[in-house]
Amino acid sequence: MANYEKINIRGVNFLNVTLDEAAKVGEEMLRGDKVCTVFTPNAEIVQLCIEQNEYYDLYNSGDMVVADGAGVVKAAKILKTPVKGKVAGVELGEKMLAHCANSGDGVFFLGAKPGVADEAAKKMAEKYKGLRVVGTNDGYFKKEGEESDAVIAKINESGAKLLFVCLGVPVQEKWITDNKEKLTSARMCMCLGGSLDVYAGTAKRAPKIFIKLSCEWLYRLLKEPWRLGRMMKLPKFLFGTYAYKFKKKK
Ligand code: UDP
Repeated sequence: MANYEKINIRGVNFLNVTLDEAAKVGEEMLRGDKVCTVFTPNAEIVQLCIEQNEYYDLYNSGDMVVADGAGVVKAAKILKTPVKGKVAGVELGEKMLAHCANSGDGVFFLGAKPGVADEAAKKMAEKYKGLRVVGTNDGYFKKEGEESDAVIAKINESGAKLLFVCLGVPVQEKWITDNKEKLTSARMCMCLGGSLDVYAGTAKRAPKIFIKLSCEWLYRLLKEPWRLGRMMKLPKFLFGTYAYKFKKKK
């Protein structure tokens, strides 16, 4: 796999890549013979690792871990180890879909409420001519035991090479890490949170101006105010990062 530098941001090792470079790494994963995982943690997740250290191993075990979100990019700058930029999971996911539409590799959408993955499949197949979504399953199944094994069997039967796991954090990363050994055809497993809702059109991404001003989080907060509790991790993370840097300097 192409050799990119890893940058440690508050204990999580991020691959220092642009969106296009990340997609190239993804193409190598699809061509390879190993089952690879792709995680896209934002500031909230890095803060979760800081508060509950047992999550470090999980997130650092990803074969490609990219910085999703303005908070992580900002922290890297504060720590004087800047990353090339933000790699939004939802955008990387689409890049891989565009690639698979050309290569013919099958794709499986796992996650979100019943019907959403099918709608996402329909919309993406219209957008990317030639895309083969070979299977879907909603994300509301028991994450262990028989129900979980039945989902794995369905993915294997589909022959999909690219798998989107959209079960919410940190459940999706844990589930794929616990189950990847059982996968027979999938080569690239991307944990993409709410992306299927975006692809299906049931959730909207922030208008471009919010993204440009690094305020996508603000748009989300305005749309989904109940996220406030979770989102308090962001200022905590940034202030904590300044404090961490100051302590290191002394
Ligand atoms: N979800 C799911 N199964 C669950 C819980 C959640 O499939 O047991 C889905 C949910 O419907 C949504 C996604 O996981 O599509 C999580 O979206 P969110 O925007 O909250 O992403 P996060 O920030 O958690 O990555």
